Amino acid sequence: MKKKQPGSPDSPAASAISRRKRCVLAIAGSDSSGGAGIQADLRTIAAHGLHGLSVITAVTAQNSGAVASVHHVPPRQILAQLNAVFADFDIAAVKIGMLGSVAAVDAVADYLRQAGARHIVLDTVLVASSGTALLPARGLARLRARLIPLTELLTPNLPEAEALLGRRLRSDLDMRRAGKDLLALGARAVLLKGGHRRGRLVSDYLFAGESVTVFSHARLPGSVRGTGCTLASAIAAGLASNLPLRDAVARAERFLQREMQRAYRAGRAGMRAMSPAATRAATAAADRKV
Ligand code: PLP
Repeated sequence: MKKKQPGSPDSPAASAISRRKRCVLAIAGSDSSGGAGIQADLRTIAAHGLHGLSVITAVTAQNSGAVASVHHVPPRQILAQLNAVFADFDIAAVKIGMLGSVAAVDAVADYLRQAGARHIVLDTVLVASSGTALLPARGLARLRARLIPLTELLTPNLPEAEALLGRRLRSDLDMRRAGKDLLALGARAVLLKGGHRRGRLVSDYLFAGESVTVFSHARLPGSVRGTGCTLASAIAAGLASNLPLRDAVARAERFLQREMQRAYRAGRAGMRAMSPAATRAATAAADRKV
């Protein structure tokens, strides 16, 4: 019998090459500390077994302690990246994180509308973990007017939801009312994250149409860099794999919990960070048991 050659079309190596992975696009800023931003997005997408594409909107110079500076990628280069990936890849979902400037919001919103992009998850990144503003106030108005209406899911944390609505949110009733008002901005669904509230239990509220689903878990001590990026990317990965929205959110919530429990310290300021790829096998095994 003739032996299969390594590169021949029916060899195991060739069939691995010809298997196409689903693609998820992350539109985000680079975090040089490696904790958040595009670095967290791509690790998360890879941990879900999908191919991550990236459009970088801003390059932050930051470490475990502070943001030193931000370079905004010119809109024409943002558009060039969008053109390059949309012309070539079948993009099953899009996760948007830091946009950084009004011009970036406009460029991305116009492009995604014209491209008819599917399954857009928008993490409204306004402030870095260390407190530095990552979107100017005028950018917020543009997000509201131009990008939110295109999104399948908006994932604000409490301060971001307060900024979007222009009021404080304190009680459970405030959270539920906020969900309705955020939906009225035009996203098809909203995941309002309660991590910034007090209490031993953290509750995230998923609003979709008339339904509200609450995801609660015990509060883990301390804060971890990149949780918002990781959660939104994990949801986008679920949508790209055709999970219904609620299942995609439920799976991503479990994924983030496991990653936060495995967080480690990095840098002189000792930021806590996650590396999902390292735990991929354990994640897959745990998901099979659910
Ligand atoms: N994107 C970039 C480039 C960042 O630097 C940060 C935070 O520092 C974020 C997003 C938001 O990170 P998190 O997921 O911790 O909210």
